[in-house]
Amino acid sequence: MNRNYYKDGYSDMIRKGLNTVRSFDPQISRKDFDRNENIEKLKEELNNAEAIVIGAGAGLSTSAGFIYTGQRFERYFWDFIDEYHFNDMYSGGFYPYETSEEFWGYWSRYIYINRYMDAPKPVYRELLDLVKDKEYFVITTNVDHCFQKAGFDKKRLFYTQGDYGLFQCSKPCHDKTYDNEEIVKKMALSQGFEFSETGDLIAKDWTRIKREISSDLIPYCPVCGEAMTMNLRSDDTFVQDEGWYQASSAYAKFLQENEERHILFLELGVGNNTPVIIKYPFWAMVDENSNSVYACLNYNEAYTPKQIEERSICIDGDIGEVLNLLKGSE
Ligand SMILES: [Zn+2]
Repeated sequence: MNRNYYKDGYSDMIRKGLNTVRSFDPQISRKDFDRNENIEKLKEELNNAEAIVIGAGAGLSTSAGFIYTGQRFERYFWDFIDEYHFNDMYSGGFYPYETSEEFWGYWSRYIYINRYMDAPKPVYRELLDLVKDKEYFVITTNVDHCFQKAGFDKKRLFYTQGDYGLFQCSKPCHDKTYDNEEIVKKMALSQGFEFSETGDLIAKDWTRIKREISSDLIPYCPVCGEAMTMNLRSDDTFVQDEGWYQASSAYAKFLQENEERHILFLELGVGNNTPVIIKYPFWAMVDENSNSVYACLNYNEAYTPKQIEERSICIDGDIGEVLNLLKGSE
């Protein structure tokens, strides 16, 4: 094997996944899996695997209670909903606000509740309990920092799509990112919010809440003076800073060091929107390494390609519930 093959964990893996999946029979196995049997199989794998690669998507945070609609949305954005009739938190994030004050009014609440507040349910901590004594590595498209908050080892994490907790130049004129906790909190305070003892964002007097932050808090790039923005991958202006490159090569290194071993590829809540980052590379690596096993935990979308069906464990359901079943009666 060429030593440099996995130099960049991110784009090399994407290429590898696409190349392999193209050669696959397009058939997807959706047969009725025996749930109890598969939970037992996965328990065994968690015990016996020499290495575990966790691939996590939005479904894992949904299971942890990070819901972007309904009550949780209304609780923090009632005034934006009144004004613009948004149906969920995402749509408000894409809205072309007339002023930067209002743009940051929306985004500071969004960032605070999804990045700096604890997840409502302990799903990430339960996951850590299952793998903490193993050789593991995590790749995730989630940008909410839940793995680190739950205590996962930072050196074993690769956040591919950015982090709500970082700002970057919107141009961008340089490849650096900036922690935003302090400024985001100030932005929320300037709209009239307060913080509870447990860190919840609270509006003691709803009538005093403004949708705008004060103008002096609008963040500008310290180098070129352009507007700052969130470090989230949406187009080619996404900044991959030094930490990102380190994580990408740590991921590549982990895969390379374990490539012949008995690996459990544990995919959690990865949807169909971006299968190229986690799902396809996992399929390709399982196809290539006959000692490896693919587990797919997903609510309504648990499936596997025919090629690796024999070494696949698909479990449909809420991830938090499944993790509890995995922990139970060991
Ligand atoms: Zn700049």
